[in-house]
Amino acid sequence: AILRDSYKMAYRDELTGLPQRRALNEQLLTLGQKFNIATLGIDHFKKFNDKYGHDVGDQALHMVARRLNKIRGSGKVYRYGGEEFAIVFAGKHLHDASYFLEEVRKSIQDYEMVIRQKQRTEAEISDHAERTRGSYRAATEKVSVTISIGVAERSRRTDTAEAVLKEADAALYKAKKSGRNQLQESKN
Ligand code: GH3
Ligand code: MG
Repeated sequence: AILRDSYKMAYRDELTGLPQRRALNEQLLTLGQKFNIATLGIDHFKKFNDKYGHDVGDQALHMVARRLNKIRGSGKVYRYGGEEFAIVFAGKHLHDASYFLEEVRKSIQDYEMVIRQKQRTEAEISDHAERTRGSYRAATEKVSVTISIGVAERSRRTDTAEAVLKEADAALYKAKKSGRNQLQESKN
């Protein structure tokens, strides 16, 4: 049981339940001639954490993971880094992978999370409580996040999983620089 648990910890991310980088590395070893890899990250997530708090940030990560996991086209989803994910499409054309990725990007953009409003300071709470007798406790707010995606296809020039992953990261960087909440395909 101890071995099984440490295996799970090494391969599965606790917060999202997704397999993590080590599992990704193992899938990369098994890929054939035709595959695509996407890397993606939540936009301005540091600001999001600063504004709503780390716990709400965790909730957002969990929500994004759930949406990503619904991706069509048999994309396999991994938590790749802190707020970054990777999706591997084996045996798919880039065109199809991009289509499914766009669907997920939109579904995340349109998803409204309901959260408790940010904790008020002591002074604000007592002020407010005096006026409304604690009804502040029920206050909720709707928030949403967006993601940027880079995707790359295995090609003759970029023929290792490592190289494709690198291309995807470069495309992700471009998506961020071009305004975020978008998909960029690597041209190679
Ligand atoms: P950009 O749009 O350029 O990607 O901006 P960004 O703020 O998302 O970029 P950056 O990579 O600088 O910041 C990532 C943030 O993600 C910083 C870190 O606090 C947050 N983060 C990473 N892992 C977790 C986590 O497990 N939970 C929470 N709540 N935040 C996390
Ligand atoms: Mg980010």
